[in-house]
Amino acid sequence: MNNNIYIIYGKDAKYMTKQLLEYADAKRYIPLGSKIAIKPNLVVEKPYTSGATTNPHIVEGIIEYLRENGFENIAILEGAWLGASTKRAFEVCGYTEIAKKYSVKLIDTKDDKPLKVNVDGFELNICSKVYEYDFLINVPLLKGHCQTQLTCALKNLKGLIPDSEKRRFHTLGLHKPIAYLNKAIKTHLVVVDSIMPDPDFEEGGNPVEKDFIALGFDPVLIDSFAAEHLGYNPYEIEYISLSEKLGVGKAGEYNLIEINPEKKPTEFSKRSSIVSRYAKYIEEKDACSVCYANLISSLMRLDEQGLLKKLSKKLYIGQGYRGKAMDGIGIGSCTKAFDVCKQGCPPKSNEIVEFLKQNL
Ligand code: SF4
Repeated sequence: MNNNIYIIYGKDAKYMTKQLLEYADAKRYIPLGSKIAIKPNLVVEKPYTSGATTNPHIVEGIIEYLRENGFENIAILEGAWLGASTKRAFEVCGYTEIAKKYSVKLIDTKDDKPLKVNVDGFELNICSKVYEYDFLINVPLLKGHCQTQLTCALKNLKGLIPDSEKRRFHTLGLHKPIAYLNKAIKTHLVVVDSIMPDPDFEEGGNPVEKDFIALGFDPVLIDSFAAEHLGYNPYEIEYISLSEKLGVGKAGEYNLIEINPEKKPTEFSKRSSIVSRYAKYIEEKDACSVCYANLISSLMRLDEQGLLKKLSKKLYIGQGYRGKAMDGIGIGSCTKAFDVCKQGCPPKSNEIVEFLKQNL
């Protein structure tokens, strides 16, 4: 497999993306007449400036490049996270406008029929539409994640499974199902948005100007590069090593080709420890990302108000606490057997804040 990773620095996302695709000669890898699916990360209904979602100008750049090279059949596929509306995310993040401007299909995978897929004995439910396309361009945002530390190319495919399967992935600890999902769906090309991501948090809120876009052909290699960028050893991220074992790709040595090194920002900001600062208040077992992220946001709000130090009991969250009654504060309907519990699936951040204030 091609182990080049191309990188371009700057702020003009559309121009940079077209330059990258030209430089890597991406068209050479796309069979003529292919039906092409583009998978951005629109996990929540927030614009890219929040650090949570893929910059739409990158997707515009990809579409223009493809059209200029004779590829007509293009669709954008995505399913927002649990409880969020993909259609609203398409609207808020600028994708409805792009779809109109370039006459490309916009597919909400939440409307899709799930298909049972068996990969080496591991069963998965996958939205069937993705299999109608020949070539998948994965366009993740390089972000931190409060449970898996990193979210980039491999985890981005979670938007191609139904909500019920997203819940099940969390009961399975995320890493193994993410690796098998990537064996079930082949990513052919990855264009990584790292212009203004949130290095800590999948939900955004603390965007950092990193000012680069990267391109590669192997999602395992790309995630290995992304992990290093956030300050991790790639093999610390379990789904990277599992994906490698399954033959999805190869982590490790890559050949970094910087297209405009003279524009490289003098120093990339290092990973901060916002999430780990708040994680110590929480006991988590198989929590869905949205639930956990909402809880972290609430603790940040409490901290800003000077109230966090008054929190004396542990907070419990996740599907692993279903039916268990424990001494502590339960967050989410999974913990409804607790004496003190904030119900909701997922509970909203502002509601958790108010609830915690009453239970300090
Ligand atoms: S309460 Fe939270 S952890 Fe439990 S299923 Fe709902 S979103 Fe997931």
